[in-house]
Amino acid sequence: MKVRRTRLETLFDTYAKNLALVKQHPFIEMRPDLDDIVICPICLLYFDRNAIANHSITLEHIPPKTLGGKPRTLTCYECNKLYSPLDEHLRQAVSNKPFLEGLPGGSISVSVQMKDGPGFKATVEHVNAVDRTFLIKNNQKISQEHFEKIQQNLERRNAVEMTIRLRTLPKSSQSVNLVRIAYLLLFSTFGYGLIFHPNYIMLRKQLHNPKSEILPNWGLVEVDSQNFNNEFMGVNIIYHPSSICSFLIVFDLKTRSGIVSRHAVILPGPGRPNDSEIISSLQTISDEKSVNIKVYHVGNRSHGEEFAQPLLAYDIWQELNEKSEHTRVS
Ligand SMILES: [Zn+2]
Repeated sequence: MKVRRTRLETLFDTYAKNLALVKQHPFIEMRPDLDDIVICPICLLYFDRNAIANHSITLEHIPPKTLGGKPRTLTCYECNKLYSPLDEHLRQAVSNKPFLEGLPGGSISVSVQMKDGPGFKATVEHVNAVDRTFLIKNNQKISQEHFEKIQQNLERRNAVEMTIRLRTLPKSSQSVNLVRIAYLLLFSTFGYGLIFHPNYIMLRKQLHNPKSEILPNWGLVEVDSQNFNNEFMGVNIIYHPSSICSFLIVFDLKTRSGIVSRHAVILPGPGRPNDSEIISSLQTISDEKSVNIKVYHVGNRSHGEEFAQPLLAYDIWQELNEKSEHTRVS
């Protein structure tokens, strides 16, 4: 418990310091202008240091803790809690992936209802994807009475009839969560200086209302994550072609049982194009089989020089835009 609180305090210091630096910029005016506060990156509410003791500000794991995340930033209690059920959906979706892709050993949790018998939770495992043989493992204790019933059925008919129910997970809740992970990873890399840019207003509105479709496609641009090796991990900036000039955030989700799934999310940068422009450009070029992109790799650094230079994201962006213009002309 003590360790957890210390991490919270350290992160509070880091973000309060970053905010104080960002506020010094002549174009940024904050009302009320308070010292030693942090702002929740999702809802933009202010929190002073008392928020640590009264738990209204919380450690935010990126990605979620159950998917291998580390406490990298702070969000308010409400914004953190809003995603608890969605984190569980995402964890289940990652766990189910090997099974749904027909990989040997892939398994999935289901509810089983025996005909004239008990219902129980079970795991279905691929034994052989080619001839579609599955192994059903019962995860619950069955009473002696029910066990005998199953045995009797087997003796009588050499078969047991059962209905297997698989819970389908809403794709939208997974998409919005992937966008949230990417946005928070971006925030933990560049701090408040970046997310105060107007390009993130609609994105935050979407994250704050995960059930409504506010951004096209919930803001998620499907990118084939297989194209990105370890060199792309973390934050990248696509600077060419200029029509999709954007952040490309690559991260892995890892379940406790060792399933790893790589994701790549595109988010707007502090300039043109914005979210909808990027999405429509990508749709236009998706007819071509592949697009050559040029990328600047920022990586997974956090709270280092980016935080000491609170507007560094803009400088890098500007420099790369000039490079992109140059590439286009030549
Ligand atoms: Zn919040």
